[in-house]
Amino acid sequence: VAKRNGPNNVCLYDPSMNSVLDEKIRIERDLRSAIAANEITPHYQPLIRLETGEIIGFEALARWPRADGTVMQPASFIGVAEEAGLITDLFSNLLEKACRDAVEWPAGFLLSFNLSASQLTDRLLGLRIVQILGKTGFPASRLEIELTESVVVREMDAALAIMTDLRNAGVRIAIDDFGTGFSSLSQIAKIPFDKIKIDRSFISAFGDDDRQMKIIKLIVGLGHGLGVTTLAEGIENEGQLEILNRLGCEYGQGFLFAKAMPSEEIAEFLRTHEPASIATGTTAR
Ligand code: C2E
Ligand code: MG
Ligand code: MG
Ligand code: MG
Repeated sequence: VAKRNGPNNVCLYDPSMNSVLDEKIRIERDLRSAIAANEITPHYQPLIRLETGEIIGFEALARWPRADGTVMQPASFIGVAEEAGLITDLFSNLLEKACRDAVEWPAGFLLSFNLSASQLTDRLLGLRIVQILGKTGFPASRLEIELTESVVVREMDAALAIMTDLRNAGVRIAIDDFGTGFSSLSQIAKIPFDKIKIDRSFISAFGDDDRQMKIIKLIVGLGHGLGVTTLAEGIENEGQLEILNRLGCEYGQGFLFAKAMPSEEIAEFLRTHEPASIATGTTAR
C-alpha cells in the first residue's frame, strides 16, 4: 500500500481505483479461462451479392456466452485480450473453429475473418494461418482476412509484410471499415488487397445528405479502377439496398439480411433464404 502523504507527496494508490482494477482483473481472468476452455465462439453474418441477393459467404464475429446467459460482444473483450497478451490464442482457437465450420458450407463460400491491430507484430501469423488451413482442410483461396483501414495506415510496414505473406499463401485480403482510416491514395496504391469494405457510418448516413452517396460512388469507382470488389457494411433497410445497387456496389452485409448467427443455425438459414425476394421485394423466380 502506497503512502498517502509521504515526504514527496507520492500517491501510487487511490482506493477509487480499486473497483476499476478489480473489474479489469476479473474480466482478464475470466477471459483467460474462457479461451482455454474454448468457450468463445464465432458467429456468422452472411455476405450478400446485392444484385441477386445470393449468399457468397459469411464473416466470423466472436461471441462470448457468459454464465449468466448473456453474450458478450467483441468490443468488450477483444481489447482486453490484446492487452493481456491473449489475442494469439484467441485468434487461433476462433479461426480453427471457423474453418471447421466453413468446410461444411456450400462450395465456393467465403469465410471472412477479422485481424486485431496487435497481431501485425506477430511474425508467425502467416504460418499460424497456413497451419490452421492445413489442419482443417479449408482452402486458402476461400479465406479472407480483414484488416481495419486505420490499422493499416498506422502500421503500414507491418501491414504490408503480413498482407504480402498472406496473399502469397493464396489468402484474400479485405480492408475493413474503409473511409474512416484516412489512408492516402499513395498508400492505397501500395497495398495489396482484394476487397474494400465500406464503413457502416456511410450507409447509415444515407438520407441526411447526398454527399454520403457521392462518397460511396467514389469508393466503388476506386475499387473498380483498382480491380477489387466493394462491400457495404451495415445495410439495414430496402432503401439503402436500392441506393447501393444503383451505385454499383457489388456486395453487402447487414441486419436487413441477417445478424450474426451461431453455426448450428446456418443450414436452416441457407434452406429458407430466398435470394430474389431480398433483392427485388418479390418472390424467387
Ligand atoms: P467489423 O469487422 O466491422 O464487423 C461488423 C460489425 O458490424 C459486427 O459487430 C456486426 O454485428 C455489426 N453489424 C453488421 N451489420 C449491421 C447492421 O446492419 N447494423 C448494425 N448496427 N451493426 C451491424 P460485432 O460483431 O459487435 O463486432 C464489432 C467489431 O469487433 C468487428 O467490427 C470487428 O472489428 C471486431 N471483431 C469481431 N470479431 C472479431 C474477432 O474474432 N477477432 C478480432 N480481432 N476482432 C473481431
Ligand atoms: Mg469486419
Ligand atoms: Mg473489423
Ligand atoms: Mg467493419
